[in-house]
Amino acid sequence: MESVFDKELTRLSNRAASERLGHIGMSQGGMCARRLAYHKFNYKPEPYNNRFIIAVNDGHRAHNQIRRFLNQSMTRSHHYLSGKEEEVRLTLRNGFIVTGHLDSVINKDCSKFCKQHYGWPEKTILEIKTCRNFPENVSNEYMAQHVLYMKATGINDGLFVYKEKSTGKFKWFDAKYDEKIFKQAENRLADVLTAAVPEEIQKEYGPDTTGKLPFQCSYCPYLKQCWSNFGLRMVKEDPKIAFVNVNGLSFVPGIKEEF
Ligand code: SF4
Ligand SMILES: [Zn+2]
Repeated sequence: MESVFDKELTRLSNRAASERLGHIGMSQGGMCARRLAYHKFNYKPEPYNNRFIIAVNDGHRAHNQIRRFLNQSMTRSHHYLSGKEEEVRLTLRNGFIVTGHLDSVINKDCSKFCKQHYGWPEKTILEIKTCRNFPENVSNEYMAQHVLYMKATGINDGLFVYKEKSTGKFKWFDAKYDEKIFKQAENRLADVLTAAVPEEIQKEYGPDTTGKLPFQCSYCPYLKQCWSNFGLRMVKEDPKIAFVNVNGLSFVPGIKEEF
């Protein structure tokens, strides 16, 4: 039974890897630019491992569950949810169009005499996330996606709800539109979409002084393409930890040149 189960997970993993090839969308606006470039040029990604496939599936289920609970609670709260998985589009500074899908929009639906919600935003973009442990703040990667959705919809208020998987607890974060974060995300996507080869695009992460790569690299499906020429070695598989040689190497994340 176990081998049949593993086979099915491997099939799903390979399918998920091939589905990702080529397309660049708003949900990737906070990823490492070089990673997006490998993706755009159809470099072969490492297949996801089985644990990752299960985690993604849990995430999808959590989305539906949280949306259902919110919908039910809002029937008595002068708010309603709309825009479930609605596609939104954004034209970047160089004319390329990127698309994305909203988790949901919270709409205020009060009479003008409602004192309870006076001053509340008319519309708020809702982002649903699952996590192993609650973060202190919303990550830069998620904020980048979020401001792209805000720009595309003209909605300047956002709300993140995180579900902690092991406890079933929730944590909420307000988020406001931020032009600086938007420009970074827009430039990242625009540069990747116009690049002729991946090497034109900067690596946004790199080793520390001991050669240890950050988790963004260790879990990147293009780790091998990116670092094999630099003595890449995996030191641990779970959680993954990768190292490269840093002898005579001065790497500054964000600098384009190869070494
Ligand atoms: S390995 Fe690191 S630097 Fe290279 S593409 Fe992936 S995230 Fe970016
Ligand atoms: Zn109200």
